[in-house]
Amino acid sequence: MNIDLHIHTTYSDGDLTPFEAVVAARGKGLSLIAVTDHDECRGFLELCGKHNGINVLSGVELASKFGGEAHVLGYGIDCRNLSLLEHISYTYGKRRERAVSMVSKLKRAGLNVSMKEVEKNCVTGVIGRPHIAAALVKNGYAGNVKEAFSKYLSKHGDFYVSYEKISVREAAALITGAGGKPVLAHPGLMAPDVRESLWPELKSMGFWGIEAYHTAHSDDQCAEYEEKALKHGLFVTAGSDFHGSAKPFVNIGEEKRGGEYLLKSIEALLL
Ligand code: AMP
Ligand code: ZN
Ligand code: FE
Ligand code: FE
Repeated sequence: MNIDLHIHTTYSDGDLTPFEAVVAARGKGLSLIAVTDHDECRGFLELCGKHNGINVLSGVELASKFGGEAHVLGYGIDCRNLSLLEHISYTYGKRRERAVSMVSKLKRAGLNVSMKEVEKNCVTGVIGRPHIAAALVKNGYAGNVKEAFSKYLSKHGDFYVSYEKISVREAAALITGAGGKPVLAHPGLMAPDVRESLWPELKSMGFWGIEAYHTAHSDDQCAEYEEKALKHGLFVTAGSDFHGSAKPFVNIGEEKRGGEYLLKSIEALLL
């Protein structure tokens, strides 16, 4: 299907500005995209309706927790919703504190990296590990972002610091409160125990759908998550999770899988 409902821009840790993403999407022949930055939704506003002849939905990807980490996508949100903007500002602070801690740990281990360099890679306040990775690559501590993650930044590594996240229920409520539709992002990237315990809760938490089709999912996983959606009365979505250099092997519009039920879901999404 020629859609991509999971795209990161310079408003979080992607390389392209929102408009450059729209241009790239059109270049790939896509007809519908959504801008889904981590804990930010204002990239969509920058477009000012310049959608280059394709359909563009506002969106967001909220980091949250349900025991372990879970990401919640939101579609069709009001990007000026006060509660959402308050959450975004609060998260800016939390993410910055966390980056300062990670950079301090790296420095203590003798690596030459500074917050100034990390922040140079970050246009908004959504400072993420990819921005630290870029600084490490630039200073020669890793050949690329992936290597920087495996050597220094992974969850199981010595330098990882977590930051306080809202619950999955709160994330879904923020999205619904902003007039949007909450969707569970890439279940295949979640810890299996967290994912399994979350399925039966989704509907009552106000979820609209599950991102069954994602570039990190195998065909079997896509089928399994679509089945879960049907079982729990939810729709399905599809997205690449395109970033650019933070995920160099994933191109915009690359997630092409999905059939009848995805088509039906997209119709419902655009209602
Ligand atoms: P953060 O929100 O700061 O925890 O960073 C999460 C982001 O880091 C994800 O959205 C990915 O873009 C990126 N990421 C996570 N793991 C890796 C990895 N192993 N290699 C490259 N990028 C990664
Ligand atoms: Zn990211
Ligand atoms: Fe995610
Ligand atoms: Fe993402």
